[in-house]
Amino acid sequence: MDPERWRTFLTEQQERVRDRTRRLEAELKTLVRARRGESDDDEHDPEGETLSARWSMLAGLLESAREDEWQAERAMARLASGAYGVCDSCGRPIPFPQLEVRPFRERCVSCSV
Ligand SMILES: [Zn+2]
Repeated sequence: MDPERWRTFLTEQQERVRDRTRRLEAELKTLVRARRGESDDDEHDPEGETLSARWSMLAGLLESAREDEWQAERAMARLASGAYGVCDSCGRPIPFPQLEVRPFRERCVSCSV
């Protein structure tokens, strides 16, 4: 693929990751509001426990989404400098199917193990 097509591909992936982060942030905000609206008697409120569990889950997802976003930015920088798609470790080109599965990878599968 030529660099222009890589750029389109990566931009799409980056937007997807950003969307996910924004959606999770919005969901967490709503949840925080829902928790504030509850009584202080949280311990005896089964609903409160469900919200806490959901909050931890969302917080975890958001953390990994932010990590992906950061990786997407790095991938864009690598593309700009011509290093994208080249394994950081062995210096060989990363096969396209591997990049398709994980577009932000910086190492080929053999070097990632
Ligand atoms: Zn490698």
